[in-house]
Amino acid sequence: MLSCEHGGNRIPARYSALFAGRERLLASHRGLDAGAAPLALRLARALGAPLHLHLHSRLLVDANRSLGHPLLFSAQTRALPESERAQLVARCWRPYRRAVERAVEGAQRRGTPVLHLSVHSFTPRLGGRSRGCDVGLLYDPSRPRERELCARWRVVLRELAPGLRVRRNHPYRGTADGFTSHLRRRFADPDYAGIELEVSQARLRGAGARDLARVLAASLRLARGGGG
Ligand SMILES: [Zn+2]
Repeated sequence: MLSCEHGGNRIPARYSALFAGRERLLASHRGLDAGAAPLALRLARALGAPLHLHLHSRLLVDANRSLGHPLLFSAQTRALPESERAQLVARCWRPYRRAVERAVEGAQRRGTPVLHLSVHSFTPRLGGRSRGCDVGLLYDPSRPRERELCARWRVVLRELAPGLRVRRNHPYRGTADGFTSHLRRRFADPDYAGIELEVSQARLRGAGARDLARVLAASLRLARGGGG
């Protein structure tokens, strides 16, 4: 299954006043992961896998952060009264998170191991520095299924697309707070394997985005052929 926590920058009408005049912020990498939703849709189609796509902006409440995380809310929503923040969680965070959790629970009941790809994109440069990476595979090194699948996936990706810079647990650590790390606490290895796929936005612009989706899907299929 696939998910995309930062797929859109929609703001429901009831919250639009909080973002008046902030169109540039909403359109920036702080408002959404540019290119992540089209990539997730292409991967879901190519892999024949269900996709959970979250289209509300992370600037309302971040679907890739756990409750209580200091970055769950943004500068625009952090100062809201507690009751309004709770409503925001109930409207724009919990339904999405629960839908994905229920899908994993359902698979577990059926005895089907889950491979969950959480699709994200990152800015190729941050703070003036290049991040030296096109594709990041984020996982928990202490979980054998995730570790072995990412090792194979990287090898196959390098064979199919030698020009692609593929790194593991870069530009972020797979064990940092995120939806996959939350789900790992609920579901054991090997029942659940959660990989956060981080793709440079430089690779998601223009015609190259379609080719990249194709090579990611083909390489994952080959990597899974070896088990996992
Ligand atoms: Zn993201």
